[in-house]
Amino acid sequence: MEMFKPIRSTYLPYGKQSIDEDDIEAVVHVLKSDYLTTGPKINEFEKKIADYVGATYAVAFSNGTAALHGACFAAGISEGDEVITTPITFAASSNCVLYMGGKTIFADIDEKTYNIDPHEIEKKITNKTKAIIPVDYTGQPAALDEILEIARNNELIVIEDAAHALGASYKGKKVGSLSDMTMFSFHPVKHITCGEGGVITTDRKDLYEKLLMFRSHGITRNKQQLIEDHGPWYYEMQCLGYNYRMTDIQAALGVSQMNKLDQFVQLRRKYAEMYTEAFQETKEIEIPYQHSDGQSSWHLYVIRLKPDLLSVSRKEIYESLQSQNIGVNVHYIPVYLLPYYQQLGYQKGFCPRAERLYQEIISLPLFPAMTEKDVQDVIQAVKRTVQHYAT
Ligand SMILES: *Cc1c(COP(=O)(O)O)cnc(C)c1O
Repeated sequence: MEMFKPIRSTYLPYGKQSIDEDDIEAVVHVLKSDYLTTGPKINEFEKKIADYVGATYAVAFSNGTAALHGACFAAGISEGDEVITTPITFAASSNCVLYMGGKTIFADIDEKTYNIDPHEIEKKITNKTKAIIPVDYTGQPAALDEILEIARNNELIVIEDAAHALGASYKGKKVGSLSDMTMFSFHPVKHITCGEGGVITTDRKDLYEKLLMFRSHGITRNKQQLIEDHGPWYYEMQCLGYNYRMTDIQAALGVSQMNKLDQFVQLRRKYAEMYTEAFQETKEIEIPYQHSDGQSSWHLYVIRLKPDLLSVSRKEIYESLQSQNIGVNVHYIPVYLLPYYQQLGYQKGFCPRAERLYQEIISLPLFPAMTEKDVQDVIQAVKRTVQHYAT
């Protein structure tokens, strides 16, 4: 695969955190304080997220997957319930349903946006359907108005997986303020990081109280919720919860990172625009479609190869870019094609548009710590590679 002169000598990953001295100081400050976990930094972080997205409540969790688990609990999902989501997502968007004994039903994607297609959701609704988990894939909001209306008409709860979409907006409103519950992740490749971390935002007090309880063993000390009261030491475990608490160490990092969120999103948007501009005339690839209802926060920049214009498959293009030190990736393998899901009985061919998309996509490096030179390197490598293999 040594057909190209190297553009760069160092490997460029597809995503990476940005940590500065303020972040380090914020963490060290907590390490020297009285609270390592569930102290003042948790409340501060939750308030900062809630205020930023325009939600009444935010509940921090140890990671985004735990937060999704909490949301499924709060939504009341149990044995036999069905929940509809997209196959083009990380497994966690569906696994959280299985944790509760529910069944995931996959609805195919919209060919343009690659997000879940509301018409396909409607086709999959049965009397067992309890919730919809739309994913704002790559940072572009799903068709939320249509999805929320379908939910209203069928009395379903919407848990938005916005792991890709912190800082995105939809019809002028920030993602995180629209669905019954919205999840954000703070894994290092996401918009801001806590090392590991997640949050659910919601406007509903009943869901908020359930999330708090679930996060900490199912235990409450809230006097208004207690069934009995033995005295000031008394607490009750009222449901089977978990230890899904975030530490103050993580929350302090999160607070410090939130101060830079808008700057991070701005840089992602700028680099995405550079890609879009550069690939305008590259007919072998399809650049991301952006609908006018939403403003993406650009977690990922995904190009789609046009197989009829190329003499090789995605695998060869992928390997060639890797050999040129461009850390491309593929998001995602349709969840139901993963061996665990195949063992559960999900069949190939279930969502044909998602399966076709999976064959043809490549995620390009995109993160705020890249330089414009890095972006130019990616552009040059992608262009010369697809042109080399053009038919
Ligand atoms: C990252 C991610 C998650 C899970 O978040 P973690 O914090 O890693 O547990 C869920 N869904 C999607 C779409 C993600 O990208």
